[in-house]
Amino acid sequence: AKSIAVLTSGGDAPGMNAAVRAVVRSGLSFGMKVYGVMRGYNGLLNGDLHEMSMRSVSDIIQHGGTALFTARSPEFNTPEGVQKAAATCRNLGIDGVVVIGGDGSFRGARDLTGAGVLCIGIPGTIDNDIACTDYTIGYDTALNTAMEMIDRIRDTTESHDRCSVVEVMGRRCGDIALHTGIAVGAIATLVPEIPYDFQKDIVDRMKAAQATGKKHFIVVVAEGVGKTQEITERIQKETGIESRATILGHVQRGGSPTLRDRVVASRMGYHAVELLQKSVGNRVVAMKGEQIVDFDITEALNMPRVFDENLYRISAKLSI
Ligand code: ADP
Repeated sequence: AKSIAVLTSGGDAPGMNAAVRAVVRSGLSFGMKVYGVMRGYNGLLNGDLHEMSMRSVSDIIQHGGTALFTARSPEFNTPEGVQKAAATCRNLGIDGVVVIGGDGSFRGARDLTGAGVLCIGIPGTIDNDIACTDYTIGYDTALNTAMEMIDRIRDTTESHDRCSVVEVMGRRCGDIALHTGIAVGAIATLVPEIPYDFQKDIVDRMKAAQATGKKHFIVVVAEGVGKTQEITERIQKETGIESRATILGHVQRGGSPTLRDRVVASRMGYHAVELLQKSVGNRVVAMKGEQIVDFDITEALNMPRVFDENLYRISAKLSI
């Protein structure tokens, strides 16, 4: 590709800026013209995009959110919308687009590639819910934020001999819950991938721990399990331990990206531009182990997500 564009789409995630910066600077270093598209696919529909320089992406690597803004675009999600976006690209001579977002955004990237514009997807979401990759940009920052917030909750839980039930994000994916549950020593962690038995997996565990002298408890609930208030009331009723619910919510989406998010985002951004330089499109950049790789978008979208059940079992053994 001679001229490329970059956009962020769907939910925002810390580290997206590092990916945008990497795409812009890699593209310029390869001698390409690079456009920044505002508000996801909407910017391609409205012609809201501008040419970027090395300095356009200065001072953004350390910020959460996305300097290009993001949006959900119902209009783009129609055959006419895709044609309109492709026409904007053709008119400006843009022959490659890097799309930073989740599965929905990748479906758009696949469609836009079908309309003649080579697209590369980069996984950006705090949820780590994209099957083809071990890691998504924003995940590490969200994990660390959730852990820190729960540590704070724990101080007050400890002082009052209470049980705190904390809901973390992740949509249908239990990865944030599993990992923060381990990191904060939760007595129970509920994830959508594994069915739980209220008596055995929560009440009995709490009572057994109480018998060994434990007086305060953290239960982590994944967003995909939900019903956090109900679960909290039931714990109080069945254990007699005063219980409080906290839904962490959007604090998990913001904040300065961690080192890991910045570095992975930078590597993925560079990889995406390398593909476009070779005129390769319809690929998603992914992380397997510590390697940056890429997959065909359709194949990537059809991969089943695998939950680390072994780690879940280990977590239950340790938190007692
Ligand atoms: P995410 O990328 O985080 O999964 P969404 O699912 O909201 O977020 O998708 C972001 C945007 O991608 C949508 O607003 C739409 O414009 C586009 N998109 C989503 N699904 C499709 C689809 N099936 N076909 C084409 N474009 C889609």
